[in-house]
Amino acid sequence: MQIKIKTLTPIWTGDINRKCSKLRETSIIGSLRWWFETIVRGFGGHACDPTSKNRCELKGEELKKGKKPEDLICPVCYVFGTTGWSRRFRLEIDGKSNQAPFVIIKVNERKEHRGWFLGSEDSGGILGEFTIKICEIHDKFVDLIALLLHVSSSWGIGTKTQDGFGICKFEGKYNIDKAISQIKSLIKANSERGVLPSLEDFFFCEIKIEENDIKNKIEEALNGKLYKKVQKVDIIDYLNAIPNSYKGKFYPTAPLIRSWLRGLFRNNNDDLRHFLFGFVSVRGDPTPMCKTHLLHTIKVIENKNYKYRCLRCDKVLNKDQYFEKMGSKIFVSHIYYFDNAWRFKIWGYIPKRLPNRDNRREILEKLYKEIVENKGFCDVLDLNKDITDIKWRDIFKVKNVEALLKEIIKW
Ligand SMILES: [Zn+2]
Ligand SMILES: [Zn+2]
Repeated sequence: MQIKIKTLTPIWTGDINRKCSKLRETSIIGSLRWWFETIVRGFGGHACDPTSKNRCELKGEELKKGKKPEDLICPVCYVFGTTGWSRRFRLEIDGKSNQAPFVIIKVNERKEHRGWFLGSEDSGGILGEFTIKICEIHDKFVDLIALLLHVSSSWGIGTKTQDGFGICKFEGKYNIDKAISQIKSLIKANSERGVLPSLEDFFFCEIKIEENDIKNKIEEALNGKLYKKVQKVDIIDYLNAIPNSYKGKFYPTAPLIRSWLRGLFRNNNDDLRHFLFGFVSVRGDPTPMCKTHLLHTIKVIENKNYKYRCLRCDKVLNKDQYFEKMGSKIFVSHIYYFDNAWRFKIWGYIPKRLPNRDNRREILEKLYKEIVENKGFCDVLDLNKDITDIKWRDIFKVKNVEALLKEIIKW
């Protein structure tokens, strides 16, 4: 099966050498796997955390006892492979990549704020049109892989999807009902309720601007905020560095929108804001977060070493009992021109387990109110609030997780 994707915002692949020169199979697999984990958990199945010690592993002796691989590892490991078990498919990618320019966005002039690094050194990500061939190796999961490619295209391929990257146009034919029944056929064990992404906990929002002539406004909103190292970059220079066929088709607005969203949670609750938007503890600032209670810890000195004590359980924690960093659960795309309109997306997940017994329904309602009703992003980009058309979906607004999945690939 062949799928075509076209970048609407640059894809960041974050290769080992920090350059981002070519779209490779490895750049895409991570996103597909992440969405598959999310969907499997959303459908009530178990998907292991591949970064944890509890990830699946297929042991030869179990197989010799006559057990089937699908009974020994989770559905995600079954399709994507794990120690002792190979991936069930392969992708062949063809197409020419162009480079987007690297830029730093400083939302405010505070000296200590390093700004948002959109890329690194000489690359701001990949732009291009690609043909992806899904090749089966063992079982028949082509429709399932096509569905995962579709979801990833709509909501971000590659990394840094919380900072605007990875939105693509998807072109390809597959059978969605077949894909869903392939997923369901793999699900056996029940899922545990943790902080890992589950489709049931997601919200999806697309903002469409019903006025075409807004380029000047966006450029004005970005002007004075673009940097290369310490040097300011003029918006014109930035645009000139974009390959011709992508010039003026997207703008690096995600940091502005993200900063506004994050600001909505800037009360006294650092725990919730850091939990939702992510944090990195550099030399203990902010302090790491207790894994059990999802609260920042307090620094204590024990035998001349810095340790971290949880304020809730009062224990000094071991290294595997706290998060030193946490990824964002809220994602924002850059603004891009597609299907005769300017659009951008805001999506993410609010897990059932939250810091401070915060209420997930209340957080969702707050986001809905600020984005869909108050439309504060219009102030950020200087847009007219009457010319927006906003779509929002979460589990409370559809029949079930399957309906949610089918809805969000239409946008
Ligand atoms: Zn697994
Ligand atoms: Zn604790």
